[in-house]
Amino acid sequence: MKIHEYQAKALLASFGLPVPRGTAATTPSEARAAAEALGTNRYVVKAQIHAGGRGKAGGVKVVASLDAVEASAAALLGRSLVTAQTGPEGTVVRRLLVEEGLDIAREFYCGIVIDRAREAPVVMASTEGGVEIEKVAAEKPEAILRELVDPSLGLRPYQARRIAFALGLKEQQRAVEKLLLGLYRAFLQLDASLVEINPLILTADGRLILLDAKLTLDDNALDRHPELPALRDVGEESPLEVEASKYNLNYIKLDGRVGCMVNGAGLAMATMDLIKLAGSSPANFLDVGGGANVERITNAFRILTSDKNVEAVLINIFGGIVRCDRVADGVIEAMKLVQVKVPIVVRLEGTNAPEARQKLEASGLHFTVASTLAEAAARVVAALPAGRN
Ligand code: GDP
Ligand code: MN
Repeated sequence: MKIHEYQAKALLASFGLPVPRGTAATTPSEARAAAEALGTNRYVVKAQIHAGGRGKAGGVKVVASLDAVEASAAALLGRSLVTAQTGPEGTVVRRLLVEEGLDIAREFYCGIVIDRAREAPVVMASTEGGVEIEKVAAEKPEAILRELVDPSLGLRPYQARRIAFALGLKEQQRAVEKLLLGLYRAFLQLDASLVEINPLILTADGRLILLDAKLTLDDNALDRHPELPALRDVGEESPLEVEASKYNLNYIKLDGRVGCMVNGAGLAMATMDLIKLAGSSPANFLDVGGGANVERITNAFRILTSDKNVEAVLINIFGGIVRCDRVADGVIEAMKLVQVKVPIVVRLEGTNAPEARQKLEASGLHFTVASTLAEAAARVVAALPAGRN
């Protein structure tokens, strides 16, 4: 689950981490009042959207008067902001964070993620702060320091100090140590999958401050944090993905033409690969999971076909936990409830596959039934209306 910068900063501040003073606002007059309450003469007005790259896209304004705060807020609110991370349609700004402006002496990057290959959290830091870290990783990988954390010991103070020295923060080593240990504690206690501070700054007067903060929480651990789900902003999520999550369907919209309905993430990945191999590309990733009953299949179908980019559908189900004939019932039922105008190719394999095939054939509905995955992929691609792939 992604959350906004202002929420991430509030959570991190509750772990004693130093963030700029600031308040969220949803109207220009609220923004002005928030700025006034800061009692300073430099302000930063920041668009709150679930995407980075706002600075370059004009979503972060550093201004010097209350009038300018109000004007910046009016210019940002309600507008769609297109950043390197939003996609071409951009994201509408509905909230701002108004903060005190700080004098930046140096900018750093620091972040914590799980290194899956090493099965441990890794703390990353770099002097290349304030720029896209992906770019640094690609072009100058040696500029990113990595400290692997032994999960049973946690981040050790010497590791934090090693980072401090490498960043040229010898004088601030105690502050760096406190900051990184605090960040690690927050990462662990919040069950985060990512915490990223870009930039972490050293101010002109020698303070270390988290100027930006990105925090991603592990959905699977939200049960352990009853206060965190309230931070979800469904307005930032794709409407079809929000709809899918209501039914516990794992759905991710993609940009191809073939709608896919599959059970199991591995099979879903393989299906997407075979569609590519057959010359087209998937319109979505949809894993209906093990308990694929009529209701789930109907909802999956509805979500899948309400995507106007879907020009043909491939249903590829392996009957294991779920029986193929039950899936066939679901598909037939769903076809009665949802108007489907695009070609459908079905491949059901596993438990009760012959019964499923009989049901589909007896339904009088138009399906192409395929027996192998490669055949199913070839057929669904062939069924696409002529034109682009
Ligand atoms: P992002 O572009 O979405 O990652 O947004 P950031 O929060 O990282 O802000 C982008 C840039 O705005 C930062 O790298 C800074 O250069 C600038 N910025 C943000 N806050 C301040 C501030 O208080 N003072 C100054 N001088 N610059 C700031
Ligand atoms: Mn940033």
